[in-house]
Amino acid sequence: MFKSIQWKIVTMFVLLILSVITAIGSFLFINIAKFYNREFSSMMEQVFTEDFVEQLEKAAGAENDLSSLSGMISSYIGPLGIDTYRFYCILDAKTGEPLVTSDSIKSANLEKTDNIITAMTGKRGNIVNTERRYMDYAVCIKENDVPKYIIYVKDTKHELRSIMQNMFWIMIQALLLAVLIAVLVGYFLSRTITVPIINLTKRAERLAGGEFENMALSASDDEIGRLSNTFRFMSSALHDTIVEVNSEKTKVETILQNMTDGILAFNLDGKLIHVNPEAQRLLPLGNLDELEFNSFFKSINAGITMGDLLYIRQDGPIERQIAINDEQYIKLNFATFYMENKVGGIIVVIHDDTKQQKLELSRREFVANVSHELRTPLTTIKSYAETLIDNPDSDGDLQNRFLQVIVDEADRMTRIVKDLLTLSHLDYSRDSQKNTERIDVKLLIESIVDKMSINAKNKNQTLSYRPINDTPLFKGDRDRLEQVIVNIISNAIKYTPSGGNIEVYTGRVYNDIYIKVIDNGIGIPKENLPRIFERFYRVDKARSRDTGGTGLGLSIAKQIVDSFGGTITISSELNKGTEVIISLPA
Ligand code: ADP
Repeated sequence: MFKSIQWKIVTMFVLLILSVITAIGSFLFINIAKFYNREFSSMMEQVFTEDFVEQLEKAAGAENDLSSLSGMISSYIGPLGIDTYRFYCILDAKTGEPLVTSDSIKSANLEKTDNIITAMTGKRGNIVNTERRYMDYAVCIKENDVPKYIIYVKDTKHELRSIMQNMFWIMIQALLLAVLIAVLVGYFLSRTITVPIINLTKRAERLAGGEFENMALSASDDEIGRLSNTFRFMSSALHDTIVEVNSEKTKVETILQNMTDGILAFNLDGKLIHVNPEAQRLLPLGNLDELEFNSFFKSINAGITMGDLLYIRQDGPIERQIAINDEQYIKLNFATFYMENKVGGIIVVIHDDTKQQKLELSRREFVANVSHELRTPLTTIKSYAETLIDNPDSDGDLQNRFLQVIVDEADRMTRIVKDLLTLSHLDYSRDSQKNTERIDVKLLIESIVDKMSINAKNKNQTLSYRPINDTPLFKGDRDRLEQVIVNIISNAIKYTPSGGNIEVYTGRVYNDIYIKVIDNGIGIPKENLPRIFERFYRVDKARSRDTGGTGLGLSIAKQIVDSFGGTITISSELNKGTEVIISLPA
């Protein structure tokens, strides 16, 4: 119960009232007792003046001394305050025995007090001892300077005691009433303090549970009011901070979730504390709950441990490149992160390097191919030229044949360089629509077929064009489109033995124009088809070279068709024939 402030305040009030009343009570009791004593002494002093004692002594020397003394004293009953609690006696000064008394019951077995003894010696016994249960006053009446009688007044203090007793009960009642008032006042007063505190406590508890609420501004300007308002400002500041932190957290989480790089975070024990979907896609992480830094990076041969990162200081992140398999290459960046100025763990950024690696590989392959393609004709030119120099006297026919070979090889090199330039131009050309015009595909193909039929005829082949239906106009670069169609038809002528058939079709499917070139030539083996559009790729290098091919024709064709927003596909069967379909958006 006393744990609550309210009851502490009530108890404080009660104790305060108790001590005030006790202090007042004690003060009153002591002072009333003192006053009663002082009053007794002063009454006695006022009655037993020197004159009165002298008169008494005179009377004591006369006849019937006792009755005249008693008569004189009786006339002072009022000033002496004689009543039921105070009586007087005339004592024998030698024995101290009462001779005359106003109260025979009280004066029976009269005790010889200090004052009586003092009076027996002839002096006045007027010492009032407040601690005694009585007050007395003894006056010695002498005859010829010899103590004869003692006028003795004694107060039993019964009156004082009954006053005190009454006062005590009044005090007790007052005390009870005061305690009751103290409890009530304390209770209601303390409520003005405790109610706002209780409300604040409840709000603080709700706040700790993450419940924010709008608090009204306290109108009171006392300490509690100021505390309430400070709490209100604190809670709203905290709310703002939490909202800010949460939105930052959401932002960071969204970034991490949608990053194109994978992220892994480990604590200092090597346990995984964060992973984003990209990291899960890029790395074979397995069961995330059991993932541990050292064992995982050992399993993928990254050649790194937590110790390397934590204890060997490096400037900047540490990088590792690994191959997950032949098809996937990964770049890993390791860095430590800090929490409260101490290393908190390790962040790993995972980057898919496959494209880069493949590009690098194809770049190397391309350079190797170009060098190889150019070296072959150069070697031929060099060896034929040397033969001619070494044999200046050889016959003219041979010399002519050799010179023709040199010219052919030089032409070949020119073709390769021309094709490479075309490709490079296509690679870098941003304005594929530069020479755009409306082309009637049907007319264009008619003229190409017309021009090329002589080549077919030379190989004893039939080249025919069959438009299936009307084709809409195509918007694009005429020269480039012609280059594509010429290349496809010339391939068909090249790779079809004499006596073969080459057919060209055009038509419209929905919004697309299609051009189909079909031959019944040597065809392409199935396994070569996927790579047929790669630069310098040939099915049979010797065969292609014999026909003067560079291995760049189809890749140029694809690049051009792509730039038109169309598609080019090849289907073929070995020794049966090949079908090339170009589809262009109308
Ligand atoms: P090339 O200049 O060597 O002909 P291409 O890129 O035009 O190069 O063709 C690539 C390869 O595809 C050729 O070397 C050839 O082996 C094959 N090829 C292309 N067209 C045909 C076809 N119509 N019939 C058979 N093989 C073909």
